[in-house]
Amino acid sequence: MIPTIPYIEQKFDEFNQLMFEGKLPKLPIVLSNAKTFLGKCVCKQRMRKDGTLENYDFKLRINTRCDLPEQEVEDTIIHEMIHYYICVNQLKDSSAHGKLFLHFMNAINEKFGRHITVSFKSSSEQKEQLADKRPRYHVIAVVKFRNGRTGIKVLPRIVDRILNYYINVSAARDVESVKLYMSNNIFFNRYPNSSALNAVFLEESVITQQLAGAEKMECDGRQIVRGRRN
Ligand SMILES: [Zn+2]
Repeated sequence: MIPTIPYIEQKFDEFNQLMFEGKLPKLPIVLSNAKTFLGKCVCKQRMRKDGTLENYDFKLRINTRCDLPEQEVEDTIIHEMIHYYICVNQLKDSSAHGKLFLHFMNAINEKFGRHITVSFKSSSEQKEQLADKRPRYHVIAVVKFRNGRTGIKVLPRIVDRILNYYINVSAARDVESVKLYMSNNIFFNRYPNSSALNAVFLEESVITQQLAGAEKMECDGRQIVRGRRN
């Protein structure tokens, strides 16, 4: 699901009552399309008259780039609410996800059966998580080479380009066969979409698995006919 502001507000109120004794003040919620975080609780700092620092002007940013399972959206909101609780109560933690944060996180996970985590993921894994996860239809060419290897190519949905790829790659000396499929599996979003006469090597078992349920397209070299389910 892609969260909306009313949804986040409703979840904020629900978790505030359930997990924070309703003590968290309402704060502005901002939707974000950034590629670097799922959620973020931000604030400004100012100096009090006694010289100590005070957090103020809080905002909750939630990412809408990813289509995540609802449970992960909820866990992201709760994760940020823990940051908010620490900041709004002017508590000091040993680091961004320090002892205090982990104490609250573990207590909430245990008491409410949540799966909130502190991200130890590498930036490439986070990027993967933030990659395009919206289903879109692609034409996938599966190329079988004579040496037993297999590859795929994600093609634009333009008949002339598909035919051009099919005819030229089928005729290549090293190529045994080219098969065409129509799929909206988000797995294929990660591959470049072009009509260049190349292919990305991929294990045949992975291809078969990812194309389960895809629509097979028949091509006789002159036209393409959308056919049966794979
Ligand atoms: Zn955090």
